Amino acid sequence: MKLLDLRSDTVTKPTAAMRNAIAAAAVGDDVYGEDPTVQQLEQRMCELFEKEAALFVPTGVMGNQLCLKAQTQPGDEVIVDSESHIFHYETAAPAVLSGLQLYPLPSQRGVWSEEMLRRAIRSSAYYLPPTRGICLEQTHNRYGGAVLPLEFFEMVRAVADEHHLFVHCDGARIWNASVATGIPVSHYARYCDSLSVCFSKGLGAPIGSMLLGSKAMVQRAHKWRKVWGGGMRQVGILAAAALYALEHHIERLKQDHHNAKRFAEQIRQLPGISVDPDHVETNIVVFHLAPFLQPAATFVARCREMGVLFNALREDAIRAVFHLDVAASDVEDAVDRIKQVIEQWNDRKESQ
Ligand SMILES: *Cc1c(COP(=O)(O)O)cnc(C)c1O
Repeated sequence: MKLLDLRSDTVTKPTAAMRNAIAAAAVGDDVYGEDPTVQQLEQRMCELFEKEAALFVPTGVMGNQLCLKAQTQPGDEVIVDSESHIFHYETAAPAVLSGLQLYPLPSQRGVWSEEMLRRAIRSSAYYLPPTRGICLEQTHNRYGGAVLPLEFFEMVRAVADEHHLFVHCDGARIWNASVATGIPVSHYARYCDSLSVCFSKGLGAPIGSMLLGSKAMVQRAHKWRKVWGGGMRQVGILAAAALYALEHHIERLKQDHHNAKRFAEQIRQLPGISVDPDHVETNIVVFHLAPFLQPAATFVARCREMGVLFNALREDAIRAVFHLDVAASDVEDAVDRIKQVIEQWNDRKESQ
């Protein structure tokens, strides 16, 4: 039985062709600024995002945190979505590494009204923390891969400009947004001072993220990357995987989106499971469990016994993520296994 791992798009393994690209990579010492493949990747990313400078980093968290560090002073406040990755999953790094206070602002699937955003920006009274920046997340992970509209970026930029704030985009899955909407990544990037994007998610590279912004911002981030122990040596072997992914794994994200949609349409027919198909915009499906199938942790454990892996998001919600290592035919298999879990649910309950 093939194990169907739908926990995350980070679980993909490099393909044979990607491994060949890794094996063939020209490398040098990147702390000396001598790795040609990293330079090629940073250059390519500047073109794609139409930004002045880019910096390769090992993880998306480091990308986000360096962008915050490079644009703030301790004691500053940064507005983030209350369901954002930066707020939930980065182990309070903004406080630890940059002395920041986050302002978690609730949203509708990652989108704030202009009025709400304006209300979150502090006045300049000396006893208030100074608002310094605003973070967006594209696509939005905890909202199930929701795509933030381009007009929303535009609105945030205009408000930020009025108050001299930076705009940062956690673009871990920005390519999913781009493929889903047909809007080039550079159009989103236009409204952002800084971005952090991942090669290790849907793009299928084993390791690696990139931050982008102005020359001055990236120069400061470069310094801090070294301070945080992120200066790497022959890192071209990772950059080669990312270059390969940019070439071969972007368009195919459409298949993941298609698989996610089909999965959602099929599991919502099962008893005790609900999902709003309109909320399946990219490669992530968040589905809800009726009370009799809760808690989600138990449901996830039963699915694991059947060879299908998920992450529980809440007591009543589970996340399924579609990626490079999930074939179209795996969708039916996954649904079938979930169906069996539900069919056996009551028997198991009574025997416990
Ligand atoms: C995965 C992810 C990151 C970065 O995660 P790393 O594991 O550090 O690469 C950042 N933001 C979002 C929304 C993510 O999904």
